[in-house]
Amino acid sequence: MKTIVVIDDEPVIRGMLVRHLEASRWQVIEADNGNDGLALVANHRPAAVICDLLMPGTTGFNVCRAIRARRDELGDITIIVTTGSSFPGDRQNALEAGANHVLIKPVPPGQIAEILDSIPLPAAAGPADPAPPVADSARIRFWGVRGSIATPGPETVRYGGNTTCVEVRVGEDIVVLDAGTGIRPLGEALRREFAGRPISVQLLLTHTHWDHIQGLPFFSPIHARGSSITVLGYEGAKQSLLKTLSAQMDSTVFPIGMDQLAGNIVVRELHELEFRAGRVPVQAIFTHHPGVTLGYRLGTPGGGVVFMPDTEIMPFPRPRPVRIQANGGDESDDFNSYKNQLLAEFASGAEVFICDAQYTAEEYERRVGWGHSCVDDTVRLALQAKVKRLILFHHDPTHDDATIDRLVAHARELAASAGGALQIDAAAEGMEILLQRKPRAQSPAATAQ
Ligand SMILES: [Zn+2]
Ligand SMILES: [Zn+2]
Repeated sequence: MKTIVVIDDEPVIRGMLVRHLEASRWQVIEADNGNDGLALVANHRPAAVICDLLMPGTTGFNVCRAIRARRDELGDITIIVTTGSSFPGDRQNALEAGANHVLIKPVPPGQIAEILDSIPLPAAAGPADPAPPVADSARIRFWGVRGSIATPGPETVRYGGNTTCVEVRVGEDIVVLDAGTGIRPLGEALRREFAGRPISVQLLLTHTHWDHIQGLPFFSPIHARGSSITVLGYEGAKQSLLKTLSAQMDSTVFPIGMDQLAGNIVVRELHELEFRAGRVPVQAIFTHHPGVTLGYRLGTPGGGVVFMPDTEIMPFPRPRPVRIQANGGDESDDFNSYKNQLLAEFASGAEVFICDAQYTAEEYERRVGWGHSCVDDTVRLALQAKVKRLILFHHDPTHDDATIDRLVAHARELAASAGGALQIDAAAEGMEILLQRKPRAQSPAATAQ
């Protein structure tokens, strides 16, 4: 998904643009004045900017000039100026200030779409632009499957007590999804496998809640000379990704600081929602969870792998308890289904969908708005997205092995009653999934995922 910044002081016009752009799968960031818009452009480095000419803060002319003055850093952002002025002088001045296109309001959405469709995909997240992976298969291995807090003990031995960490191997590329406590045993396994040879890992963080980062200080490759760990994630709502990761290794809580590690650690904040981790193509989506949280979709030779450990899927229609009904009438139901539709489109046709299924439907009734999903909604989203295989993930710390067994049985009943062929399992530590390249006829779709 490409990012666009829309700067316009007219809420109605911004609203129309945002609706249209989101429907065309753009990640839209908005500002209602020129100064805020410029700050967003600098932070997010979008592929395109749509900008009004006359607005508070600073004018669209200045926005264009400021973006072009930082071309080395921001790249060739496509700038579309929209204006109510049809004076030729204004148009000329906007073009001279750096606009690529000047369109007169009201601008037909089709005219903007035509321009935006021609913008190429952004560059990869890394400085190099490596070739796509050369591999016939991918392997997924689960190292941590629990949400919220680690829960070791006799009641969780079968599914495991470590918090979230999933390894995806595609050829030589090692992509690690989240750094919960499960990343510690992964580090040990890598150390044994590589036996002193340098280890290179791409670590994708969905967000910085404890259960997703707490294992990182204990991931042995960060302490090994010659290892290289690229940490990719979005900036937080309050501070940068590097600052949050460094804080959990501050000397008051951990003996070794982020700046004292023997391995080569690079923390790279994402500015685009489509990039590569090593040679593996990745798409990202913002999920419904407190703070700034992403879901990821990895393109592998065996099909798409979607990882969405923390998201509150909007309740699908079913008999609702009064408390939930009070939250919404028809309008919020429409909005809910729109939000689910975005998630379903993101996961559409995935080979493996690893998704938040923390609660039972009964538990969820008491935890609406906590940012996690109940298994019933997770199954319905998987059915809507027509994924092949659903992996229930982010198990609640209070759920023992027997409870998770019951969740799986319930999920399978729901899927069976819908008549589909959806395969469902609960994530368990040590579980592996091997994805083989599809036969020739299906391979274009698989590689495009
Ligand atoms: Zn979590
Ligand atoms: Zn979280």
